[in-house]
Amino acid sequence: MRLLLHACCGPCLLEPFDALVAEHDVEVAYANPNIHPAEEYVRRRDTLADYAQARGIPVYELPYEPDRWAQAIAGSEDDRPSRCRACFELRLSMVAQYATDHGFEAIATTLTVSPYQDSDAVRAAGMAAASAHGLTYIHRDFRERYPEATRRSRELGMYRQNYCGCSLSDAEAQHDREARRAARKAARGR
Ligand code: SF4
Repeated sequence: MRLLLHACCGPCLLEPFDALVAEHDVEVAYANPNIHPAEEYVRRRDTLADYAQARGIPVYELPYEPDRWAQAIAGSEDDRPSRCRACFELRLSMVAQYATDHGFEAIATTLTVSPYQDSDAVRAAGMAAASAHGLTYIHRDFRERYPEATRRSRELGMYRQNYCGCSLSDAEAQHDREARRAARKAARGR
């Protein structure tokens, strides 16, 4: 099957691509208007593109429209599960539209390699996007391959980000890191 695989970054591409290419004719879409700031978007894109080029994997960059992403999640900023659902829906609908326009039969995403993402929400967004465009959605939960993806990306010297992508997730990750630091400090003081 000709499959368009949505990829959020280079490290997350490694294992899902290898799993899917054993069964399908896989090409990759970088569709991530959620990533903030633009320099971070470019850094993740270039990390992905360098790896893909070395392996001869075609990559299509879809439009970077942060305002469109902001509209999609408007009203859900402070409710992470809702916000992420809207984010998945936007990105996978972009991929499904591109897939339809360019003769693909199916779509999939690398998002489910991350233990930090809601796999069920990703599945729902993927199925809805594919169904709306007459495509097949291939859902795989790749989380068991996350340790290997981490190992390989380190070995390859890939850039590895420390937040999901949007400015809100950057702030949340910083907050979590500070809370962990404070907890460690408090534990040492006991
Ligand atoms: S945390 Fe990640 S999945 Fe959720 S809205 Fe932000 S970028 Fe999208």
